Amino acid sequence: METFYTGVIAHDPRFASVARVADPSLLEPTTRQLVESIVSAAHQIGIEIMIYETYRSQNRQQELFNHGATKLRTVGVHHYGLACDIVRVVSGEPSWKGDFSFLGHLAQSCGLIWGGDWGASNIKHSFIDSVHVQRCTVARQGDLFAGKWYPDETYNPYDDTQHLFAAATAPAVKPVAKAAASSGESSTSNKVS
Ligand SMILES: [Zn+2]
Repeated sequence: METFYTGVIAHDPRFASVARVADPSLLEPTTRQLVESIVSAAHQIGIEIMIYETYRSQNRQQELFNHGATKLRTVGVHHYGLACDIVRVVSGEPSWKGDFSFLGHLAQSCGLIWGGDWGASNIKHSFIDSVHVQRCTVARQGDLFAGKWYPDETYNPYDDTQHLFAAATAPAVKPVAKAAASSGESSTSNKVS
């Protein structure tokens, strides 16, 4: 079955782009719609944010890995058009500073998993990525990366209870990212960002 990944992303000229891609059209349509609703909802409460990165190629992931910007060598959810990094706008420039818990609230209310809690706010996470949202649970990522699963247009990760539960209880499979702010018990895989 053709998905947005196989039908659109795989044929896009930016498929192997090393440059950052911020184009919302490379987000899977439901993900794009939700991300755009988050940007306007934030605006309405007086917080200016911008779509910083949507699609990410394997080449770019490797570059980021080589420069120590990510612990993940192989592509993550961004590669499938299902994740987006959203940052603040301060004086016209992207900013990662300040509290992003508003993004968590907005993401959850529209059905996206936030990298600040990975869909399980009741547990302590070893890896935090507070500007990241995605439309799949951490537990689904393995099947996504293997080409075995892709969300349909109505998929809501918060209804994916079996997989949310697995994400919340699975032990970390990789060391804690060095940039992680929190320490302590590791609870989710860091195959993200
Ligand atoms: Zn991200």
